[in-house]
Amino acid sequence: MKMDRNGMYPQHPCRRCGAMLNADGYHASELYAGVGCYTGLCDACKNAPMTVVWTYRDGAVRLEYPPGGPSGRRNRQHYTAYPDCTQCKGEGYRWGSNVTGWPMRHYCEPCLRRWSGDPGRAWYERMRIRTLPDLVQARWTRALVAYRKAHRLPMGARIPDDAAAAMHAPMLAQYQRIQARLDRIARARGIIDDDGHLT
Ligand SMILES: [Zn+2]
Ligand SMILES: [Zn+2]
Repeated sequence: MKMDRNGMYPQHPCRRCGAMLNADGYHASELYAGVGCYTGLCDACKNAPMTVVWTYRDGAVRLEYPPGGPSGRRNRQHYTAYPDCTQCKGEGYRWGSNVTGWPMRHYCEPCLRRWSGDPGRAWYERMRIRTLPDLVQARWTRALVAYRKAHRLPMGARIPDDAAAAMHAPMLAQYQRIQARLDRIARARGIIDDDGHLT
């Protein structure tokens, strides 16, 4: 989707209810492409009451709220909460302020800690976000060093694009195989579901 010279997207339907955005010409902000503004939602959907978008196996819920804090922001906000949390009363956030004093929601720390402290989730996220990418990065670095050695290229000299691409393709394929294996194990352990969502 391309914005025009005024930073506006062309008219298209709301991704939630299907109503045409800015249909009456009085809701230009629905199509305004500025940072933090465009969400693909009409004003009614943006301001819709809180909804539960996901329930986890340990009772935690993923909650979606209308935008909070400084006006102009259009993105709905997501918080994970435990209904029995005494700190946030199951809302997943507490009101505080940002650096300029604007009221804004802060994650409920006890809920966050409890959620990410689940051993299965912690293991899966660590593997996916840290261990696997680190492994691939280390292999890539080794491959580059080996190439330079074999072709007597000095450190820092540019490796031709086609040679880099030829080395990169099998590595990417291997990364995807390992990722798929990780997901299979996580699914078998009930940590993620068939769609890859954390459970
Ligand atoms: Zn809508
Ligand atoms: Zn809480």
